[in-house]
Amino acid sequence: MKKTVVVTGGAQGIGKACSLAFARAGYNVLINYNKSCEAALALADKLKQEGGFVAAFKADVAKRQEVFDMARFCIDTFGSIDVLVNNAGIAQCKLFTDITEDEWDNMININLKGVFNCSQAFLPYMIRKKYGRIINVSSVWGVSGASCEVHYSAAKAGVIGLTKALAKEVAPSGITVNCIAPGIIDTSMICGFSDEEINSLKNEIPACRIGVPEDVANCALFLAGEGSGYVTGQVISTDGGFAV
Ligand code: NAP
Repeated sequence: MKKTVVVTGGAQGIGKACSLAFARAGYNVLINYNKSCEAALALADKLKQEGGFVAAFKADVAKRQEVFDMARFCIDTFGSIDVLVNNAGIAQCKLFTDITEDEWDNMININLKGVFNCSQAFLPYMIRKKYGRIINVSSVWGVSGASCEVHYSAAKAGVIGLTKALAKEVAPSGITVNCIAPGIIDTSMICGFSDEEINSLKNEIPACRIGVPEDVANCALFLAGEGSGYVTGQVISTDGGFAV
């Protein structure tokens, strides 16, 4: 039977690469989006034309009721949930002393509470069938901390803590929980960097290039696969050796 994956923020950047990779690997795909309605519907259409069983659903991962409605829609549409890719996220560059309380709350609500909301909404279905894969997208900055991204780094470090703790709690139910920590990946999230900054970052990356969304999607596919059932609670870097 075909497995079903939900990709949060699945219409853009890394999430889009995940939606494409999973659909082409034979998964049913639920593409979650918040603002990118047109892109989500276009991607769903494209993947349907390729023969995939794909749907798109709007939900703000920070809003609990919308996330639980999405879980219900997923079960009604596909009959199950096997893999959850918690990819949705935002970034912001700001001096720590200038971060407002609203900006702090927004960062934590989307990047950390969003993972809590989605995992809680989908886990009961995984526990019931004693099978599931949760893949959280953290960041290299959640591991090492980034200057002028304290709220982002804190949220992404929280995702790593959540991953490790939840992995222990649900392992007896046949569910793995792992984390991907991407380095610098070529998506709209890094559009604030100048060419000069990107070139200087490239010089710090042993692989001599910034990553592409497919680098992360391939790792997610591995973590979702049958062969990785004994891998849990791990943080896997997709960063070309940047953080080594
Ligand atoms: P992106 O192109 O800006 O995509 C961000 C995605 O998150 C979009 O699909 C967006 O969906 C979704 N999103 C944001 N807020 C949301 C919300 N409240 N509810 C639902 N979806 C929401 O950036 P990206 O680089 O692909 O980022 C994907 C993940 O990778 C993020 O968690 C990011 O922190 C992480 N990451 C990225 C890099 C990098 O260098 N690019 C490095 C490390 C980690 P809508 O457009 O529909 O709102």
